[in-house]
Amino acid sequence: MHEASIAEGLLDAAIKSMPANFRRILRIKAVVGVLTNIQPESLRIYFDEIAKGTPADAAVLEVVHQPASLVCLGCGRRQDYGGRGDLTLTCACGGNNRLEGGDALYIDSMEVDT
Ligand SMILES: [Zn+2]
Repeated sequence: MHEASIAEGLLDAAIKSMPANFRRILRIKAVVGVLTNIQPESLRIYFDEIAKGTPADAAVLEVVHQPASLVCLGCGRRQDYGGRGDLTLTCACGGNNRLEGGDALYIDSMEVDT
């Protein structure tokens, strides 16, 4: 049900940010961080369902994954973390890794039509 409320939030934000004089949303590009645990497939299914009868009816919801990074506080080494698998909290140099990013959830762009 996590995705259901996220889908509602996205739809709401998309409709509110529609420029005046436009009536339809054709495409929404959403950036979703890997640490949000959102499954793009179920997000799309919920979105399609609740968008019916709104300006975003039949809009394409494109989900772009934002990776997280592990950054070493000692040597500055940076690695992508894809959200799966073990987190390596200690760098090879012995320093501690800090997790950065990966928690994004926003609409990057939309295509609209009159
Ligand atoms: Zn290091």
